[in-house]
Amino acid sequence: MNIPFVNEPFTAFAVQENREAFEDALRKVQSELGREYPIIIGGQKITGSQTLHSVNPAAKDQVIGTVHQADRELAEKAIQTAAETFHTWKHTDPNERARYLYKAAAMMRRRKHEFSAWMVYEAGKTWPEADADTAEAIDFMEFYAREMQRLSEPQPLVRIAGEDNELTYIPLGVGIVIPPWNFPLAIMAGMTSAALVSGNTVVLKPASTTPVIAAKFMELLAEAGLPDGVVNFLPGPGSDVGDYLVDHALTRFVSFTGSRDVGLRINERAAKTAPGQKWIKRVIAEMGGKDSIVVDNDSDLELAAESITASAFGFSGQKCSACSRAIIHKDVYDEVLQKVLERTQKLTLGSPLEMQSYMGPVIDDKAYAKITEYIEIGKREGRLVHGGGTGDPQGYFVEPTIIADVDPQARIAQEEIFGPVLAFIKANSFQEALEIANNTDYGLTGAVISRNRAHLEQARREYFAGNLYFNRKCTGALVGTHPFGGFNMSGTDSKAGGRDYLLLFTQAKLVSEKY
Ligand code: GLU
Repeated sequence: MNIPFVNEPFTAFAVQENREAFEDALRKVQSELGREYPIIIGGQKITGSQTLHSVNPAAKDQVIGTVHQADRELAEKAIQTAAETFHTWKHTDPNERARYLYKAAAMMRRRKHEFSAWMVYEAGKTWPEADADTAEAIDFMEFYAREMQRLSEPQPLVRIAGEDNELTYIPLGVGIVIPPWNFPLAIMAGMTSAALVSGNTVVLKPASTTPVIAAKFMELLAEAGLPDGVVNFLPGPGSDVGDYLVDHALTRFVSFTGSRDVGLRINERAAKTAPGQKWIKRVIAEMGGKDSIVVDNDSDLELAAESITASAFGFSGQKCSACSRAIIHKDVYDEVLQKVLERTQKLTLGSPLEMQSYMGPVIDDKAYAKITEYIEIGKREGRLVHGGGTGDPQGYFVEPTIIADVDPQARIAQEEIFGPVLAFIKANSFQEALEIANNTDYGLTGAVISRNRAHLEQARREYFAGNLYFNRKCTGALVGTHPFGGFNMSGTDSKAGGRDYLLLFTQAKLVSEKY
């Protein structure tokens, strides 16, 4: 493909035609709710001994789909099938591998709203959040396809007389892909596409709360003609099937995005050599964040308030990039707090089926319990300024919540909540604000709002975050534009959507021939 990569545009819902098209897609998806989704191994559709109902987090009684659950026996079968398929897939021309992704991307683009509508129903995403998720999924496929083609070109080496030298990037083997539920299409498709286009075969274990979207992606890959066995679909409980896959001697790498606890567990288990295992397993882990927006005393306060509100409450704060700490210079603290409050008061909490809902539900009962518990902790640790309550009991709705005057060491300032809870922290100086921003175990995203060039330069050097943004929000990384991944307990800094990403799924082989 010689057309340069460009990001997929977002849909303008102000245009009536687009709204109607989206409503049509919602109706189509609604008519397809409640279907059954099998396990898929080597192209074969398999029913499990157990099933799981995936439900709508905005209407708990509504079943989105019934998904068959794998056990260890099927996990074994999936790994063996992936290992078998690897023998042929690894020799498939990288350009051919790329073409499956170009085709799948083109097909997804044509059915864009339908994919987004599934996310409205299964993940509780609002229209624009779902639309951005689908756009990012298309971007990942388009971007990684080009990246594989770039990597398969002759690599620059120093030439010496009488020798032919060639460096190629060859695949690793069987990869276990364990994606998150919060970008149930984009990150799931991105992780899977990167692994397969690099020539690996995959066992995909979808997130338990969003397996239907993953099943829809599997259908798309099959329609795009991807050979059977390249991606095997294995929904099942993480504690059982997940561990089995990670521990297996034939597993060559694990690509994980999710919580810090699960990521560390995978890393530990993968470090143990199973009997018969011939390699050191590679772990690519993108985990949590406790991200801040720092507001300087010399800054555009409207921009500050807008950036904080969008980063804290977009998709109910369920992004590892979300701003959960607003660290504000004391000179402008009250004013910024007031401006964020005014904006937050206008946010609408409600069913994501309605276009005007700014925030939908959180993902499930566990998230709901955890977030509401943190709100109680926050009320003790600071001053509740807004929210703190819940919404329609039909779903897992939590109000956008602001807690002011929080100590930088407080639990709500240190622990990842993954919900719409924002802590305001006062800093005596810009220097102190930066120190507070760096005081967590994480290092994923961060933002600084300032007009002071010296301060921006200082932050450029000292703010320890994988994705650092100036004078803008700290969410919404674009593929190819803002390669995404963080430091410390945020993960292995894999930089999804960047030029380094596919290297994680390959190994370099040098062949030198003396003439
Ligand atoms: N890439 C997303 C963003 O920049 C966040 C990804 C995540 O939450 O895992 O907002």
